[in-house]
Amino acid sequence: MSHVTYENLIGGEWMPARGGRTFLNLNPADHSDVVGAFPSSYTDDVDLAVAAAKKAFATWRLVPAPKRADILYKAGTLLQERKEQFARDMTREMGKVIAETRGDVQEAIDEAFYVAGEGRRLFGVTTPSELQSKFAMSVRMPVGVVGMITPWNFPMAIPSWKLFPALIAGNTCVIKPAEDTPLSTLNLVKTLMDAGLPPGVVNIVFGFGPEAGAPLVSHKDVRAISFTGSSEVGSLVGQRAAATFKPVSLEMGGKNAQIVLDDANLELALDGAIWGAFGTTGQRCTATSRILLQKGIAEKFTAEFVARAKALVVGDGLDEATQVGPQINAQQIDTSARFVKIAQDEGAKLLTGGQALKSGPHAKGHFFEPTVFGGVTASMRIAREEVFGPVVSLIEFNTFEEAIEIANSIDYGLSTALYTKDVNRAFTAMRDLEAGITYINAPTIGAEVHLPFGGIKRTGNGHREGLGAIDFFTTWKAVYVDYSDKLQRAQIDNAE
Ligand code: ADP
Repeated sequence: MSHVTYENLIGGEWMPARGGRTFLNLNPADHSDVVGAFPSSYTDDVDLAVAAAKKAFATWRLVPAPKRADILYKAGTLLQERKEQFARDMTREMGKVIAETRGDVQEAIDEAFYVAGEGRRLFGVTTPSELQSKFAMSVRMPVGVVGMITPWNFPMAIPSWKLFPALIAGNTCVIKPAEDTPLSTLNLVKTLMDAGLPPGVVNIVFGFGPEAGAPLVSHKDVRAISFTGSSEVGSLVGQRAAATFKPVSLEMGGKNAQIVLDDANLELALDGAIWGAFGTTGQRCTATSRILLQKGIAEKFTAEFVARAKALVVGDGLDEATQVGPQINAQQIDTSARFVKIAQDEGAKLLTGGQALKSGPHAKGHFFEPTVFGGVTASMRIAREEVFGPVVSLIEFNTFEEAIEIANSIDYGLSTALYTKDVNRAFTAMRDLEAGITYINAPTIGAEVHLPFGGIKRTGNGHREGLGAIDFFTTWKAVYVDYSDKLQRAQIDNAE
């Protein structure tokens, strides 16, 4: 079957991998649909891309930030024009339903306009000096060449969270997108080029993690790494980056809890739980994978939640009637199935789902039934480990304090949600839930681009995207100007 063959973008030129190898990008809703062939890159391709980025840095860093912003504004406008096509491309390669891929492109649009505005706000601090006739200030400097490694679940939004703030700050970039969703990153970067980004400022190398991602992390000329993906790979990336003293921003897994108290608006909590658990087929790092139910409402909530989960329409995301798309690949289906078995072996009760769907309209894709487990306790693996699929656990509790304890009892700390009408408990939860994001009366998913995004514990290493990204992509420089015309020693050298 004929299909399009795509190329790496290095120094403004489209080129195949030097080794000539390619891999296929397949539609997860229909394996027979080949989205395209992409270069399978190795160290030599990464070396070329880093050299191109290094060369481009010499001039890009000198472009005034408001001028860099003009390119991002233009890219935002072009993305608006291309939104529908890019959303369709994304559903075809990634699977999530078209309404959600429109949202993914929209997030890149929002990020473009938000970050472009930052081009006039890269504020530093001026402060009085200890000494007379001496001026003291601090300025943000670009880091240099930044390497980016991105996952498949938000294939345009996540690259935009990294590329745009890095660019506004004057860095140049080499991005290695996930092997399952290369086209959406290509669409994003092509749009940046069409908006007037000079050659070499952003370079893409397609390929697999160990071959194309690892050399980027180790490269001596890459000054920082921004990674989003699994905690296992994130740990490796962090260790490798440390060897060359690179700052590294790691955004990783979650095991996000929605807590529902007896006084909650139950309809609202149900709507939030269904969306949080099964939106993006449960494949968001902020997906709701634990629902903590207070005893008074547990039975009613469970019955209604299971009925709604059963009624969800699973299918091809390009069909507007579909509510839950496929999982990304066979490996993720295996993971969901493995966790179903683990949960059953631990004594959890399968309330609905639990199987891969393999017949009729599902015969050619990676589909898994929306799956709900009841009778889950906080110590079970199904309640502690990330599944990254449409599998959710219901855990019952007696008191609010117990709920907070269960919510915090895991190794991850990304997103949390509390449904209640009690303002005191809402504020207590905002203070006590160990997570980078807490929602009150809203699901665990739904981050906005201009707030800090990230988590604690196994979820992250302290950096934030959104508000905070500029901190990662810049380095502070202190500048002193002495206009006294004499040698003034700093206070420490003048001490009586
Ligand atoms: P996910 O579970 O979302 O696929 P991964 O952590 O496996 O998360 O992948 C996230 C990104 O990290 C992908 O772009 C992948 O190719 C890349 N990656 C995987 N292994 C490595 C590695 N050893 N070094 C660098 N990058 C890697």
